[in-house]
Amino acid sequence: MSQYKNVVIVGASAGGIGAARRLENSLPQTHRIVLIDACEVAFYPTSALRAAVVPGFEKQTIAPLASVFPPNSRHIVLGGTRVIGLGQNHVKLDRTLDGQQSSGDGDEIHFDKAILAIGYQYSFPSRAAGRTEEEILEGFSKVQEDVKRAESILVVGGGPVGVEFAGEVKSAHPGKKVTIVSSSERLIGHLPGLHERLKRQLENLGVELVLGDKISDDDARGLEFGRVFQGGQRPFKTLKGFELSSDLVIDGRGGRPNTSLVSTSYPDAVDERGQIKASRNLVAKCAQLSNYLVVGDANDLPVPKTAFVAQMQGKLAADNVRALVLGGGQDVSKLKEFGNPPSVMMVTLGPKGGASKVYSLTFGEWFTSLIKGKGLFVSQFKANYVAAK
Ligand SMILES: Cc1cc2nc3c(=O)[nH]c(=O)nc-3n(C[C@H](O)[C@H](O)[C@H](O)COP(=O)(O)OP(=O)(O)OC[C@H]3O[C@@H](n4cnc5c(N)ncnc54)[C@H](O)[C@@H]3O)c2cc1C
Repeated sequence: MSQYKNVVIVGASAGGIGAARRLENSLPQTHRIVLIDACEVAFYPTSALRAAVVPGFEKQTIAPLASVFPPNSRHIVLGGTRVIGLGQNHVKLDRTLDGQQSSGDGDEIHFDKAILAIGYQYSFPSRAAGRTEEEILEGFSKVQEDVKRAESILVVGGGPVGVEFAGEVKSAHPGKKVTIVSSSERLIGHLPGLHERLKRQLENLGVELVLGDKISDDDARGLEFGRVFQGGQRPFKTLKGFELSSDLVIDGRGGRPNTSLVSTSYPDAVDERGQIKASRNLVAKCAQLSNYLVVGDANDLPVPKTAFVAQMQGKLAADNVRALVLGGGQDVSKLKEFGNPPSVMMVTLGPKGGASKVYSLTFGEWFTSLIKGKGLFVSQFKANYVAAK
């Protein structure tokens, strides 16, 4: 039994680490953070697409969780630990804290307040291939080999994931045939200005664009399991009747909320898309989950689903948790509210290409490469997981 009251954070990615960093020195000494993640290491989706193509880059997708807090800290990290149940004041783990795996009777951790930062689920290679460092690195090595061997690659989806993947492949392997098929007539869909710039650059790279068309529902269902097909077994037929043959198919469509943990026990807590309903102060709307704040991709706030926003929400949730802890209770009237974040979207085409939208201004290759493309913010990601001296 710990001498501390717990503030549990589920998910140690952008939202969760943002909250942890803000809380570690601001919580009263009566409280400690318990940061929990199903993976043994932190995983960084932003660098996953380059890691799927460029050998050696896979190491830029992970950071150790063990060094988030200094060794003498009262705060703790439980990496490789999945939360499998949510109670009003406790979470249930998939293992006991003595290390035994469990098939349902893992330990419970009681808390004063909790933050859910459980994010989205994507198909591989946008998500981690496993829960351990070895599994994640091996997954990338395999797909790098697949990409290297394939003469032709079909990318399904013309949003940021599909477009960035096509750009990575063409930057590293200019001779390969790459096709993007997208149901939308416009790349990246909603943001005016980006489509034109990206289309021009992709065409210059030799990427074939099949826009306003889609593969059949059966083929799409196969991709939902995150399979990467190899070997050109049969062509994919589009609804308009085109046949798209390739050696390798990559699912570059967007993800969906990773919230079955919530929806199976509290179906009314999520909206029709599976996002957890939360107020602008990030407190879950479901009465039974009123001790939980929800940040990042998992909540239903109408803001972009980006790491940048998730981290901002993590910090705001941390401030609100602190206020609730210090206020000793449930008074949510004084909590901060999350407004509209800065409107920024950067889509890279490998290290040197891409386009960006910053409020109403659109920028091309030079700006996008300088700010994002060259480094993909990897150093900031890694720095988040190093304890302050
Ligand atoms: C390919 C790709 C490229 C992207 N590029 C950019 C970009 O350039 N810029 C940008 O700002 N955003 C980008 N994004 C979006 C960004 O990655 C997400 O918005 C961000 O990661 C969301 O952070 P999050 O903390 O909400 O959730 P996630 O990053 O999804 O993390 C959720 C965490 O919770 C853990 N978890 C989930 N369920 C449980 C459980 N039951 N128990 C324990 N742990 C659990 C997971 O292991 C994971 O670590 C990109 C996304 C993808 C897929």
